[in-house]
Amino acid sequence: MRIETERKLDFNDVLIRPKRSRLKSRGDVEVKRTFKLPHAKVEISGVPIIAANMDTVGTIKMAAALAEHSIFTSLHKHYSLDELQKANISGDFSFVTFGIDDMKKIDSVLETLKGNKINKICLDVANGYTENFVEFVQTVRKHHPEKIIMAGNVATPDMTEALILAGADIVKVGIGPGSACMTRAMTGIGYPQLSAIIECADAAHGLAGLICADGGCKMPGDVAKAFAAGADFVMLGGMFAGHTECMNDEQLKQLAQSDHNMVEYYGMSSKVAMDRYAGGVALHRASEGRVVKVEYKGDVKGTIQDVLGGLRSACTYVGAPTLKQFSKRATFVIKNSV
Ligand code: 5GP
Repeated sequence: MRIETERKLDFNDVLIRPKRSRLKSRGDVEVKRTFKLPHAKVEISGVPIIAANMDTVGTIKMAAALAEHSIFTSLHKHYSLDELQKANISGDFSFVTFGIDDMKKIDSVLETLKGNKINKICLDVANGYTENFVEFVQTVRKHHPEKIIMAGNVATPDMTEALILAGADIVKVGIGPGSACMTRAMTGIGYPQLSAIIECADAAHGLAGLICADGGCKMPGDVAKAFAAGADFVMLGGMFAGHTECMNDEQLKQLAQSDHNMVEYYGMSSKVAMDRYAGGVALHRASEGRVVKVEYKGDVKGTIQDVLGGLRSACTYVGAPTLKQFSKRATFVIKNSV
């Protein structure tokens, strides 16, 4: 057994120090970015925020709404091929998600969606530390040398490097910070998210790869802190939950008829999700997700305005005319409560 004694930080342990600035208005701040991908050898452009691949967030309706703002969606993996085909999703801003799946299935899904120009894949497992997952990333890369592959989740530099070397362009970083996550409570495993972002971004950038900070953002200031820490992309679950775009017509009808305005947001490893998609929680495992009730927030465009407004303002406070320059301009101060 070993103990690491260096202090590791979460979003709420820090603030971003304001700095002198020449910017006149937050309206002048450019929040879109263009990245070159190390393996796919193509560029990806847009506002680097991604709706999480959860069935209460990464919906087809969410993808359509966010694409209008050049924001990305990682569609949840439980859509049928037929549903994806009918949806006519925008290839520019959508990732199609898979777990450790049959390679033939991945090939055929991508072949069928060829017309949508889907070139972004999200390979998502709760624990990205297994050799099996690294080999799986290698296999997907071999089959799809030209696709943008985002893979995770991990929370440390060693595995960030391993996944990039295996063929991932973007590594998803976050073990346990999610608002509907129970991993830390059920297993004791985790890593404070701000430190995970700082350390994994450094590792990824050293190999020309990118990271997506996934989980733990509860308010726009947390999104700003994730970018300031070096995240290239930030994935949001809970902040995008509870919107019109998260629900189907039947759920919206039920909400309109009910006397409350709370909707369910649940983890993809929760009992609710496993009952729905895996026929229950298998005997050898425990549920590592929970159900959270969130207030219905209407259309997602209000939240987008809050998140992007907060981000532009944060850039203005440190004198960064673009999101690209934000991290270089940012200095964190540790709050007294630590
Ligand atoms: P949030 O933005 O709500 O804080 O976090 C969203 C992230 O939580 C997702 O993108 C995913 O990585 C993670 N997550 C989703 N469902 C579960 C779950 O059931 N268990 C765990 N451990 N993490 C989850």
